[in-house]
Amino acid sequence: MTQRIPFVLFGATGDLARRMLLPALMSVRERHADYQLDIIGVAGSRFDDESFRAHVVEILTKDKRCSREEAETFAKTISYLSGDYHDPNLFDALAARVSPDERPIVYLAIPPSLFEVVIEQLARAGFDEHARIMVEKPFGRNLADAQRLSKVLASHFRPEQIFRIDHFLGKEAVQNLLVFRFANSILEPLWNRNYVSRIELNMLEAFGVEGRGAFYDGVGVVRDVVQNHLLQLLTLLLMEPPLAMSGRDLTDQRTKVLQAIRPIRPDDAVLAQYRGYRLEAGVADDSSTPTYAAIRLEVNSWRWAGVPVFVRAGKGLRETRTEAVVEFRRPPTLIFGTGEGEQHQPEPNAFIFHFKPDGRIELLMQSKVPGPRLISRPTMLTVSSSDDSARSDDAYAQLIDDVVRDDQTRFATQESVEAGWRIVDPVLEAPAESTYVVGSDGPREADRLVADVHGWYR
Ligand code: NAP
Repeated sequence: MTQRIPFVLFGATGDLARRMLLPALMSVRERHADYQLDIIGVAGSRFDDESFRAHVVEILTKDKRCSREEAETFAKTISYLSGDYHDPNLFDALAARVSPDERPIVYLAIPPSLFEVVIEQLARAGFDEHARIMVEKPFGRNLADAQRLSKVLASHFRPEQIFRIDHFLGKEAVQNLLVFRFANSILEPLWNRNYVSRIELNMLEAFGVEGRGAFYDGVGVVRDVVQNHLLQLLTLLLMEPPLAMSGRDLTDQRTKVLQAIRPIRPDDAVLAQYRGYRLEAGVADDSSTPTYAAIRLEVNSWRWAGVPVFVRAGKGLRETRTEAVVEFRRPPTLIFGTGEGEQHQPEPNAFIFHFKPDGRIELLMQSKVPGPRLISRPTMLTVSSSDDSARSDDAYAQLIDDVVRDDQTRFATQESVEAGWRIVDPVLEAPAESTYVVGSDGPREADRLVADVHGWYR
C-alpha cells in the first residue's frame, strides 16, 4: 500500500521552490512508488488550491521538462494555504489540514529573518512532537547567529527531527567521490600528507548575480558558497574512513575534518569584486561585497598537517566549473628528458574530481612518448560520470527522499555548521580588496597564495 506523507512547503511561491523544489518534488513522485507526498504550499500570495495548481503546472511546463499531462497529474497532489507567517491563525489552519501526528515533513524555504517566528508558531500549533523539519542554508549569518538559531530549533525539536539541507551533499558526482574513495582500497595508502602535495577546490562561475543582486549583496561569496557547499565538499575529500556509509559515524567523521581546520588567517585570503558588480540591480553603489574569494586553508590533523588546501570561488569568471584536485608529490629524482637534452620536471600525478559541468573523474599519469627516446608526457585516465545529466533539482529530490526514510547521512550537522562558521569567521566581514575583469581568471593578487606550490593547478 502506498504510504501518504504530508509535505508542507513554506516559501512555495519563492524562487527556490520554482527553480528547484517543485521540480524535485515531481521527480520524487516519479521515482518512488512506495509513498506519496501530499504537498501543501504555504505562502503569502493569494492563491487557492486550483489557482496554485495552475501556477505549478505553468512552472513545470515552462522549460518543457515535462508534458502538461504529467505536470497536471503531479499538481493534483498539491494544495495551498495562503497567509502571513506572523499570523498564528495560519498555523492553526495548517494543523486543521495536517495532523502533526502524521509526521509531516516541513520544508522551510523562507527568508532567514522569518525562521524563528515560523519555528515558534509550528511548535505552538503542535508540530514539535513529530514533524520533520528541513532547514535551508544559510544557517545563520555567522557563528553566534547559527548558535542562536540552533537553540531556537533545539528548544522545540529533537536532533533526529532536524534536517539541515546542503544540496551539494545530494549531488550524484559528490556521492561518487565517497564511493571512489572508500570502494577502491588502492587509494587509502596514498590519501595523506606522505603522498599528497596539495588539495584545490574550485567553484568558478562565468555568470554574475543573475538578478539576485539584492540578496547577494548582503551575503557575498564566503557566506554564499564557501562556508557551506565548499567546506562540506572538503569534508568528503579529507575525512577518515567511516565505519559505514550511513549513520552517525559518517557525519561525525565529516564534522571532525572541519574541526581540524584552523580559522582563516586574513593574509591567507584574497577577496575581490568583479567590475560592474555595483551596477547590478539591487547592489549598493558603494558595495564592497566580495564576489570572489581565494583562500588557503591549513588542516591540523595527523593525516593532512602541512598539506595546503586551496579554495577558490567566484562569479563573473572565464568559465563555469566546480572541481576538486588532489595533487601528489613529484618523483624524487628526475630521470626522463624532454627531448631537448635537459631533464624535466614532469607534471605531478593528480586526481581531478569534476562536479560541474559533468561528473568525470580524471587521473593524470605520465606515459612514454612513442618513439625511440625515453621521454614522458601527461596522460589522462578518465572515469566517465555515472550520470552526466544530473541536475541540482535531482540532488534536492535525493535529499527529500532521505528525509522520508529518516536518513540523516547526507545532511549537515549543527556541529559541522558551527565548525564551518569558525573557519571563515576572520574574513566574514572583510571587504573586497581589489577588482577583476568579467571573463577573466579573477584577480592577479590571488596568485600570491600559490607562489610556493607552482601556481594554481587549474
Ligand atoms: P524568495 O524568492 O524571497 O521566497 C520567499 C518565500 O517566502 C515566498 O514564497 C514568500 O511568499 C514567502 N514569504 C516571505 N515572507 C512571508 C510572510 N511574511 N508570510 C508568508 N509568506 C512569506 O526566497 P528564495 O530565494 O526562494 O529563498 C528561500 C530560502 O532558501 C532562503 O532562506 C534562501 O536563503 C534559501 N536559498 C535559496 C536559494 C535560491 O536559489 N533561491 C538557494 C539556496 C538557499 P509570497 O511571495 O507569496 O508572499
